[in-house]
Amino acid sequence: MCYRPANTVTIVKCLECGAFNKPTNETCQKCGADLNESRKAADEAAAPSPGAPKEISLKPQGLDGAPKAPGAPAAPKAPGAPKPPAN
Ligand SMILES: [Zn+2]
Repeated sequence: MCYRPANTVTIVKCLECGAFNKPTNETCQKCGADLNESRKAADEAAAPSPGAPKEISLKPQGLDGAPKAPGAPAAPKAPGAPKPPAN
């Protein structure tokens, strides 16, 4: 794998559709989205402002987004709630 810093990249990837565009393109040649937004996003991702280190999550894996314990009671249905249409 050859990693290239963003400032050497000569193509702009569209944020909307993911198409690659020439750096001279103002808008995506595929979907017409504004490529300036894509450039900006790429710049920010590649060059975070100094003094603002990325926050690293120290949460142990498995706690966040863990599946609910089996047997957890579902939300009780309101009595007399109208049934959803069959179709
Ligand atoms: Zn696009």
